[in-house]
Amino acid sequence: MAERRAVVAGAGIGGLAAALALHRRGWRVTVLERAPEPREVGAGITLMANAVRGLDALDLGGEVRRLGRDGATGGLRSWDGRWLSRVDAAELERVLGTTALGVHRAALHRMLREALPAGTLWTGCEVRDADPTSGTVLGHRDGEPVELRADLVVGADGLRSALRTRLWPDTPPPAYSGSTAWRAAIRFDEPVPAAVSWGPGSEFGTVPLGDGQVYWYAAITARPGGHAADELAEVRERFGHWHDPVPALLAATRPDEVLRNDLYHLATPLPHYVRGRVALLGDAAHAMTPHLGQGACQAIEDAVTLGAVAGPTVDVPAALDAYDRLRRPRSQAIARAAARTARLGQELRHPVAIAARNAMLRLTPSRTALRGMARHADWHPPRPT
Ligand SMILES: Cc1cc2nc3c(=O)[nH]c(=O)nc-3n(C[C@H](O)[C@H](O)[C@H](O)COP(=O)(O)OP(=O)(O)OC[C@H]3O[C@@H](n4cnc5c(N)ncnc54)[C@H](O)[C@@H]3O)c2cc1C
Repeated sequence: MAERRAVVAGAGIGGLAAALALHRRGWRVTVLERAPEPREVGAGITLMANAVRGLDALDLGGEVRRLGRDGATGGLRSWDGRWLSRVDAAELERVLGTTALGVHRAALHRMLREALPAGTLWTGCEVRDADPTSGTVLGHRDGEPVELRADLVVGADGLRSALRTRLWPDTPPPAYSGSTAWRAAIRFDEPVPAAVSWGPGSEFGTVPLGDGQVYWYAAITARPGGHAADELAEVRERFGHWHDPVPALLAATRPDEVLRNDLYHLATPLPHYVRGRVALLGDAAHAMTPHLGQGACQAIEDAVTLGAVAGPTVDVPAALDAYDRLRRPRSQAIARAAARTARLGQELRHPVAIAARNAMLRLTPSRTALRGMARHADWHPPRPT
């Protein structure tokens, strides 16, 4: 049988993981990336147990555990440092059977890239359209049109996916979630917990990355499009009086290390992730707010599932139908849960509502809290067909 070809639009974490999953199943894969250089913007990332399991299925579990930091204990706190709920990392690992990791995004991206055969990734190539019937992909590279024929096309082109806009024209564009976020990965030698702290309309999270590095992020409820001349000064102004180690982390951060993004999500869930030979994946399919730390984890689940259903001899429409059935309900439920977590956590502003939530969290038995945290991360890759 002739070698079958897959084209992936977008070389983010989702696109690279999908390319690898398909390559491992015998597909010849080309990844078309708009950016002139392969890169991943955005400090650190938390990979929950589901994503680590997904990377295990791609034979990258050992490598990602070597790159990341596991075993960080933490939980939920109030802005003044009071613990609302504690999570013991060893206990969480025991419940889920595998660990969660804090990883630098650049290291994760490099690991995925380097696992692909040479020549797979074409940078500077913007995808503009795909024909769901023939699998023809149209793009532009160095001012020249590019046309590729594929048996399977993966739209992993992120939040503002060109393929989603072309092939799902009735879907509303991503909606502003109501929050803006800052983040940085910095050198910091003191131990920090993997924790999230909530203040009125705001949150601050810390994730140890290992090797003396810490990833912090901060979010507030705000109008979209805000920018400060000095974003670090803005974060210090808003969070510099929070509990330890927040002031020390901000003091150890350089202005050029801080990245700011307004948070957008697909507020209207897609009715289908598949059209003909084209499947959407990652943020292109289900961009969610980061309040559960699951966006990239879900992209990795998508990628591993696609590889599992798309064996080298399967009928592509049937495989993609299975992909849609396996992925859409779960990823959309997690997107809804992320929005709910934002409403109960960072977005809550009324003092009475905050006091009631905090009291409820403090009264919740630790085993129940642990099960709640573990729920979304409890996923196993499907058996390859
Ligand atoms: C503040 C913040 C914190 C987060 N924290 C976490 C976390 O801790 N854990 C977690 O799991 N998730 C987290 N997320 C979510 C996570 O970052 C995303 O869900 C994930 O990166 C999506 O990956 P992706 O590959 O689908 O899309 P992207 O990373 O957006 O990649 C898309 C790629 O496609 C390229 N592209 C776009 N258009 C085209 C085109 N037309 N042609 C060719 N290429 C194109 C882009 O250049 C890009 O390289 C966070 C998000 C934010 C904003």
